[in-house]
Amino acid sequence: MPKRKSKVNFAENQHFFKKNDKRYDSLSMINLTQYIPGIVIDLRYAGYNNFMHIPMYKQHPNTTFLRKPAAEALKKAQEALNQQSLSLVIWDGYRPYDVTVDFWNKVHDERYVANPKNGSGHNRGIAVDVSIINLKNGQLLNMGTDFDNFTDSAHANFMGLPDSVLANRRLLRQTMQAFGFEALPTEWWHNSWPNAKHFPILNVTFKQLQRMTK
Ligand SMILES: [Zn+2]
Repeated sequence: MPKRKSKVNFAENQHFFKKNDKRYDSLSMINLTQYIPGIVIDLRYAGYNNFMHIPMYKQHPNTTFLRKPAAEALKKAQEALNQQSLSLVIWDGYRPYDVTVDFWNKVHDERYVANPKNGSGHNRGIAVDVSIINLKNGQLLNMGTDFDNFTDSAHANFMGLPDSVLANRRLLRQTMQAFGFEALPTEWWHNSWPNAKHFPILNVTFKQLQRMTK
């Protein structure tokens, strides 16, 4: 499965689809489109609208996956937002390890992309990049910056923004935290499920995942 030589051990890649084995239940990879009704998925790396300006997900997936506990928490966050006529927008979830290597080969700067020697929460299926959309008018809430804005204005403690923007960020942060996610201080959109080490790095493609989780 892994095409490149790497120190990362993919031996446990198979665990997530041992469906009948309770020990592996929390490792299950959940298809978010199927699992969370009405969730808006706009995978930025599947198209050109990203900081690389090329599709990094060559299979152009239109859904993504998270480990079961993270998917369950995300569903609760979505239900809470739905009560205010809002919805989550997913910009990224699971990311195959090979894509992290591709990012690194192209950018090679730890301020912007994860160093493959560590892998990332996205590779483990526990990190999700999210914003919020208003279901009444279809507009994204104004969060002050776009996705993958690598400046301090994307930081959680950046206060040089209008009160309404700070309130939108607070709503996102507090909603995700309420259901167990941890925010990244440098990217307002990035949220991760705790205990990363419990979730092995994966290098299966979106197509393989779709097939395995049917
Ligand atoms: Zn992220």
